[in-house]
Amino acid sequence: MIRSYCNLGMEMKKLNDRKEFRKALVLFNEYEDKNSGIISDVAINQALKSFTNIEDFQGGSYIYIKYSSRIEKNCFILASLIHFYMQCGDVNRAEQIYNKSNNKTMGIYGAMMKGLIKNNMLNETINIFFKISNPDEIILILFFHACARIGTKETLNLVKKVLSNIPNCYRKNSNILTTAFDAFIKCGDLSSAELIFSNIKRNRISYGNLMNAFNRNYQPDKTLDLYNKMKIDRIKLDIICWLHLINASANIGIISICQSIFEQIPMDFIENSYIKNALIDMWGKSGCIDKAKNIFQSLTQPDTIGYTSMINSYGLNGMGIEAIKLFDKMPRELIFEETYVCVLNACSHSGLVDHARSIFINIINKTEKIYTTMVDCLSRAFLFEEAQILINNFELHHSPSPTMLMSLLSGARNKKDNHLSEKIYIRIEEKFPKHKNRLVSASILLSNAHASVGDIEKSLNIKNKLYQLGLKKKIGLSFTEINGQIFKFRAHDRSHPRSKDIYAENDKISNELIEHGHQFDSAWITRLLDEDETIASVLSGHSERLAIAWNFVANPNTKQIQITKNLRICGDCHQVTKLIAAIRQCEIIVRDANRIHHFYTNGQCSCQDYF
Ligand SMILES: [Zn+2]
Ligand SMILES: [Zn+2]
Repeated sequence: MIRSYCNLGMEMKKLNDRKEFRKALVLFNEYEDKNSGIISDVAINQALKSFTNIEDFQGGSYIYIKYSSRIEKNCFILASLIHFYMQCGDVNRAEQIYNKSNNKTMGIYGAMMKGLIKNNMLNETINIFFKISNPDEIILILFFHACARIGTKETLNLVKKVLSNIPNCYRKNSNILTTAFDAFIKCGDLSSAELIFSNIKRNRISYGNLMNAFNRNYQPDKTLDLYNKMKIDRIKLDIICWLHLINASANIGIISICQSIFEQIPMDFIENSYIKNALIDMWGKSGCIDKAKNIFQSLTQPDTIGYTSMINSYGLNGMGIEAIKLFDKMPRELIFEETYVCVLNACSHSGLVDHARSIFINIINKTEKIYTTMVDCLSRAFLFEEAQILINNFELHHSPSPTMLMSLLSGARNKKDNHLSEKIYIRIEEKFPKHKNRLVSASILLSNAHASVGDIEKSLNIKNKLYQLGLKKKIGLSFTEINGQIFKFRAHDRSHPRSKDIYAENDKISNELIEHGHQFDSAWITRLLDEDETIASVLSGHSERLAIAWNFVANPNTKQIQITKNLRICGDCHQVTKLIAAIRQCEIIVRDANRIHHFYTNGQCSCQDYF
């Protein structure tokens, strides 16, 4: 029972706070019917809030029309009104009201920014921010939030600028720093995110976000570091964090790391199907196909991801036939694009072209990705004419795909067919003049193709051109593990404290290779040599070579080395690793971007040189 008009606003607020918006409006109408002249500003404000929440555009507009002269004098109600129009998607009306208001308070700015973000007008949000002097906590949070949503290099600079000029009273404000942290992640500046991380309120969500970002950025070692920090912070991992952690272990793909993470997963998560699917992927990627299979078999009803991960695991481990068998068993309704890609890849990496063809023919909805995988399969088997026919078919109904042509070019390079390579390169250059990264990779492949037939001049000309344009290729990165510790090497890395020893061991290995008749193959050199470099020194500086050398420095009698590489292993490293495994009588497992190679002590690789 309401005793006086003054109480109306308060009673409505209570109802609104309890999300009983319609009840609040019934009350409002009741009083308005009696005497609208004595309705308080608080009540008008609450009525607008109710209408906003029930998304009643007409009701809110009615309030504005009826009480406009009062509303325009009250900055609190004005903010609610802007908020109302923004939530209804009437940005123009909100802007008119905003422009008309003479006394722009933080509330009004905040309503405007929040509304613009809601309506996806992110640059406009940022423009308003820079008109505000002395922004408060909410305004700063909204600003960083808009920057996070844009996520570009330009916004990253704005985030940095604003954060460095932030008033002292906000420097340790966890809410502000948390959104700034999020903005750094979304803008791809993980080092700044990491710096801020120690100052924010760390919980599962912030840990999970950073883990996810490291995983996407191919820094799985950092995800594992975060896990150790979580232990220190005494934060229990939720299922999302565990999934990130398992994915990181899969990316590193080193058995001992995977085993250690696996043993720490709590019992109540281990039976979860998301976790099981992630574990299939992890074991498959670390070369433990039996463990992957065990987990797969423990699934009562495998879903799309379970089947697809298992098929992919077979493919990575060169078990094409097993991949096809499982694919055939898979319920048809569970199959989706990625499944086809994985099974075709599995065929491709095992040289099962006929099987791939018959799977491909029966696919009803052939997407670009599926076509590309088939083109890749044919190109690896040097069936270039068939691959080109497929590309032409695809281009009849779709715009051309650069990846398809790159697969073809890569096949031509592997076959040392420089004429075909040149033709394909020209096609790529004509069709994708603006795809800079693609052109760099294509140029390198073409240059390699020329080098492989001994046309060093043409090869060098191309590399020269790249050099002058200042274009850079993706840098090689290898992970390895020694005594429980993860080590990361870039190509020509000298950052390791025992770098000297590593390079000395590497030289020793190179000499042993030469003694065993190895000739370093210049066709695999992808850049210009500096004055003090030789073909051998450049190839020996590839990241996996440094990782191998470090293993022998740390454990001279090691019998097993495991390495994971982000790019495809080059032909020279492949040949060299076979020899090292035999000379040093040490099994070496290398997972590259395509598959897992088991280099046995008899000097052979599980891929049968088909990679
Ligand atoms: Zn190499
Ligand atoms: Zn191999």
